[in-house]
Amino acid sequence: MNQSISQYIESLLPSRNELFQEMESLAEKERIPIMEQTAIDVMLQFMRMQNPAKILEIGTAIGYSALRMSEALPEAEIVTIEIDPDRAEQARKYIQEAGKADRINILEGDALELLEKVKELGPYDAIFIDAAKGQYLKFFNMYGSMLTTQGCIYSDNVLFRGYVAAETVDQRRFRSLARKMKEFNSCLMEHDEYITTIIPVGDGLAVSKKR
Ligand code: SAH
Ligand code: MG
Repeated sequence: MNQSISQYIESLLPSRNELFQEMESLAEKERIPIMEQTAIDVMLQFMRMQNPAKILEIGTAIGYSALRMSEALPEAEIVTIEIDPDRAEQARKYIQEAGKADRINILEGDALELLEKVKELGPYDAIFIDAAKGQYLKFFNMYGSMLTTQGCIYSDNVLFRGYVAAETVDQRRFRSLARKMKEFNSCLMEHDEYITTIIPVGDGLAVSKKR
């Protein structure tokens, strides 16, 4: 999205409570890639319409998006996975402080290795993929089987700073990630079991619904 347009939309968004503002500052200071405001706003609106009872999030970071989802959908149960112990700890503190510990269950570990545990806690009406960009397809295939019939999978960062649309990517470290994200997007768009739309908001949001 054009930067002045996204700034305009952000200026219209209602201000968040103190705890969220504190988390946003921490994320900025420590460069923790929480979801962009315009994108989280769109995702939450889809979720309000979908009204999932149970949500799986891959990539908790400090618990920001988990708490935003929980605020938008107070009845929802959220299972969220974080590989970094310090971030998981920080998320636990914030979730405790927000009084949401009974609604949000943090699983600490690699989402690629938690299949059994996550399955026990499922199935899920919504899955939010927001972790290592190179692994999206693996996450999607692993956890897609735990989605209910009316379920949706939301994937953040699918436009990866525009690199997916660039003819060449100069920075080598981004090149292979851009290629992987392009493969992921193609796979979603051609998938037999899902119908997907890619929304150019924030860093790119894909919404996949079971066919
Ligand atoms: N959803 C959060 C931001 C997540 S940032 C929000 O918007 O508030 C991505 C997070 O995914 C990072 O904290 C990173 O440590 C975590 N992560 C990366 N690979 C992972 C994996 N394989 N399993 C679980 N978490 C992972
Ligand atoms: Mg993200």
